[in-house]
Amino acid sequence: MSSVTRFAPSPNGLLHVGHALSAIIAHDVARKNGGRFLLRIEDIDIERRRPEFVTAIFEDLNWLGLTWEEPVLVQSEHFSEYLAAADRLIQMGLLYPCFATRSEISAAAADQEKTDPDGSPRYPGLWRGASAEQVGARMAAGESPALRLNMEAALKALKAKRGDAPLTFVEVAEDGTQQTMTADPQRWGDAVIVRKDVPASYHLSVVVDDARQGVTHVTRGQDLLAATDLQRLLQELLDLPEPVYSHHRLIKWSNGLKLSKSNQDMGLRVLRQEGATADDIRRVIFS
Ligand code: GLU
Repeated sequence: MSSVTRFAPSPNGLLHVGHALSAIIAHDVARKNGGRFLLRIEDIDIERRRPEFVTAIFEDLNWLGLTWEEPVLVQSEHFSEYLAAADRLIQMGLLYPCFATRSEISAAAADQEKTDPDGSPRYPGLWRGASAEQVGARMAAGESPALRLNMEAALKALKAKRGDAPLTFVEVAEDGTQQTMTADPQRWGDAVIVRKDVPASYHLSVVVDDARQGVTHVTRGQDLLAATDLQRLLQELLDLPEPVYSHHRLIKWSNGLKLSKSNQDMGLRVLRQEGATADDIRRVIFS
């Protein structure tokens, strides 16, 4: 079966060798079996995104010799669709508003050891079960809340849909072998699904867009392996199709390039300026 893959960088900085591995794997998987390779600009973080980084993404991918389908999906143009998906979860009673600040959460979570997979304190449920009056008072004061997933309710809704069938995903290794993995979304606790500052979140926008773009094979770094647990839950709750996944090894060092010390940040731009070629990058990341 031919695959639809995507490379989905956030334009908050320049691409490095790790991004090159993600992009090249996604590109090559699609090209190998007559599939489609898509590019998606994940720029919902409107404080951090920069147009020059978007331009640099196109330039660096071109330099790597990759070609992708047009049009490129730019997430900041689709906030209304992320909100529509959030609205479905609200209708199902699975999201609740949370006005807590980061420091309030840290203080309330100080005596618990649990962190979520990103290393943030596990949300201690401060606004879960808040009354309409409490919420209304903060809204009237002009504050806007984050929307959090009520994880317990979400897992109940999942069970109502699927019975005891475990939540899983298929992980495809670099050699093509497949393994079924169990997803454990609970370790994310009541995760933020709609941020305070932007009408979306990484997890929500990724599942909406992977479905909208018909992505069948998600390729990305191992640092996002735990994110798949929560994203699989959202896919099930929103009746979205399930892609297969390849979480590739992380590249920590560009040793093989033997260029100057400044390439220790592994930025593709610096490496190119120092004379590396796209073939050098492939050699290094696959050696
Ligand atoms: N935008 C994410 C990043 O740059 C990648 C998201 C994904 O591949 O699911 O880390």
